[in-house]
Amino acid sequence: MSDEEPAVELHNPTLESITCPQCGSTNFEIIGQSGGLRRLTTGMFFGNAGNIIRGVQAIQVRPLKAKCADCKHKFIVQPVEAPPEELLDAPATLVITRKKSIIGMAVNMSLMLNGAFVATLKNGDTVTGQTRNKHNYIQLFDQSGVGSARFDRIEMTPDQKIEMVLKMKGRY
Ligand SMILES: [Zn+2]
Repeated sequence: MSDEEPAVELHNPTLESITCPQCGSTNFEIIGQSGGLRRLTTGMFFGNAGNIIRGVQAIQVRPLKAKCADCKHKFIVQPVEAPPEELLDAPATLVITRKKSIIGMAVNMSLMLNGAFVATLKNGDTVTGQTRNKHNYIQLFDQSGVGSARFDRIEMTPDQKIEMVLKMKGRY
């Protein structure tokens, strides 16, 4: 899979089935994306203007760069369509805040949910959206593709609501 891999359209992307091709571990981190972030910030079903239920609208998803936390192997992952057993019977709600910080005030961040870039967050912004996925992978990236300190993996139940505050490691 190369950096020029075309986008695929998915309704409910997931990273749940991804394993390290070298050692088989599921303990990986997303360390950026192939081909530049600006191209990826599409498919805004999750934004400041209101909730658009995930799964109704197809979104474009491109390959991401990952690093295995166990054997340190770096590899490219392509998010895939979530299988039926991965979908919740009813959507769950995520309320995600980018922690306000004086450093990095002018820098916009992109929110990655399950391998798709779903919202742009200015300093201190909060977005609310819904997910149909049981296992949710959440991280912020800046426009150069540097990820936030935390790569969150959250298991959710139908109608559950989770609030999170994310910040960049050291930088923002
Ligand atoms: Zn590995």
